[in-house]
Amino acid sequence: METDYEKIGLKVGLEIHQQLGTAAKLFCNCTPGLFKEEPEIIFLRRLRPTQSELGQVDPAAYFEFQKGVKILYEANRATSCLVEMDEEPPHRLNREAVETVLMVAIMMNAKPIDEIHVMRKTVIDGSNTTGFQRTCVIALNGEIKVGEKTVPIQHAGLEEDAARKIGEEEGNVTHYRIDRLGIPLIEVATAPVIKSPEEAEVVAFAIGRILRATGKVMRGLGTIRQDINISIPKGALTEIKGVQQLELVPQVVEYEVQRQLNLLKIVEELKKLEVRRDDIKEEFFDASDAFKHTKCKVIRKALDRNEQVLGVKLPKFNGFLKRELNPRLRLGTEMSDRAKFWGRVGGIFHTDEMPAYGITAEEIDELKKAAKAGELDAVVFVADISDNCKDALTAVVERAREATKHVPEETRVANPDGTTRYMRPRPGAARMYPETDIPPTQITEYQLRQIRSRLPEFPEQKLQRLTKQYKLNQKLAKQILDSEYAELFETIVKESKISPTTVAAFMTETLKALKRDGVQVEKVTENQILEIFIKTGSGEVTKEAIPDIFIWLSHHEGKSVQEAISNIGLKMLTEEELESIINSAIEHNKNLIDERGPNAFGALIGIVMKETRGKADAALVAELLKRKLEQTM
Ligand SMILES: [Zn+2]
Repeated sequence: METDYEKIGLKVGLEIHQQLGTAAKLFCNCTPGLFKEEPEIIFLRRLRPTQSELGQVDPAAYFEFQKGVKILYEANRATSCLVEMDEEPPHRLNREAVETVLMVAIMMNAKPIDEIHVMRKTVIDGSNTTGFQRTCVIALNGEIKVGEKTVPIQHAGLEEDAARKIGEEEGNVTHYRIDRLGIPLIEVATAPVIKSPEEAEVVAFAIGRILRATGKVMRGLGTIRQDINISIPKGALTEIKGVQQLELVPQVVEYEVQRQLNLLKIVEELKKLEVRRDDIKEEFFDASDAFKHTKCKVIRKALDRNEQVLGVKLPKFNGFLKRELNPRLRLGTEMSDRAKFWGRVGGIFHTDEMPAYGITAEEIDELKKAAKAGELDAVVFVADISDNCKDALTAVVERAREATKHVPEETRVANPDGTTRYMRPRPGAARMYPETDIPPTQITEYQLRQIRSRLPEFPEQKLQRLTKQYKLNQKLAKQILDSEYAELFETIVKESKISPTTVAAFMTETLKALKRDGVQVEKVTENQILEIFIKTGSGEVTKEAIPDIFIWLSHHEGKSVQEAISNIGLKMLTEEELESIINSAIEHNKNLIDERGPNAFGALIGIVMKETRGKADAALVAELLKRKLEQTM
């Protein structure tokens, strides 16, 4: 069924974060980049924010902190220094990064502020060694034109990127790498005026084009992260973090709207059943006895470790937990996410999905008896140490209570398929306080004049120029503009003598197809791509062979294009070698030629191409074959 988003009253705001490829990080001189080798330095910290700094810490982070989570930081000297380790105060704000934001701001008609004040935003999940993230606003109140619509830009600013989590948590220790910490992120936020999933995508792309126009943004997966604020009347404002691809934006919005609409339906139905918030009690019961002889592996293991099975009854919730919120999410999943987060358990079981996982109908009967649960009730149970079970079920009860009332206000995080999962409750306001280590930075008229005098080509102009100069059709020109390769495209065309349409089609459609097939496109450098095309232009490799070379390089990081060519045996055939292949094909198919005469060409070209594909120019093969065939007859 088509959803009428206008009628629903959908409101979406975007907050786009993109890494800048500046020469240095935001508050020190380290070169932005990630390392793959073993770390040179490791250090363990337990974050201890001082009481005055704590202010209104988000409750989830505080909870982690209280549980005594320790952080093991990994670093190497090429990508971090004492600043990232919080052993040395931050340096002044990176000027190149500030001027890039100013450029974007001017292109969006935003008003630069007079003086930049760096602020601290408390984060105690360990993603920053300091316990806060530094952030600053640089310009306010801009706008962009998207089709007929004007979309207000609330602000543009800078943030330092966070450390990146490595692997899964082991015991109470979380691993982070601080190479990413301090890489400048430009932040652009729209007003919540977007009214449909499609419009969200169009706006995201329009902002992306302006950012790329500066020539200063990094490319590749993980360099762009979008937060999407989504709300519908009667629903809630959900903040979705970390959408890594612009193309995913409409899917995320669509799924979230479905999720909220279905949660609202559940509220209505529970109301009809007269389930009240207070009917759902934090009364947990020990259900271990019901599973004394269980064949369910998870429960068996827990009981063997002397842990327990704890359960809770959710009155009149039978059937609601398996209710689909969107094609990949059920209410039970939401409860499970909460339980995992607050209880640190592996997951929960509930009667809506039973019998399953080796749990029998008899065991469920026992469980329900122990819970004093009737036909209409659901039972949620979990196996772990007692404290974790209690925390997990408390979170489940809270989520069930919310289900009777409203859609909860949450911060969620995006999965690669466009679905989202619970991250934490939405933090309260006022988590910011001034960064006293960094003096305010003036923005001068002179500086602004300088930037205005060297503004890059605007995306609309570039689109027009691409279609005119390279005779690309609108669709292809737009795809090139939206790709990360617009500049490279122009270089290749200039230096390779290959037709612009061929290059453009490769840079967009072929690369997209390769990505879809799981090829890690970002592993092939721009220089390598350029070299492949130059070799194609000079006849050293065929057009047909380009994808194979590309795939080989993506599997062999650090190897050269030349090595790719010799390793996949793509050396072009000489004309003599080609002639000998054609002669032999004619020799072996004498009967066919006698029978069909000139019409044998179609069959023969197929036979010859099988042997020469990727190693000879298709047009040349056809011409030679035709000539030889004529000679034979
Ligand atoms: Zn540094």
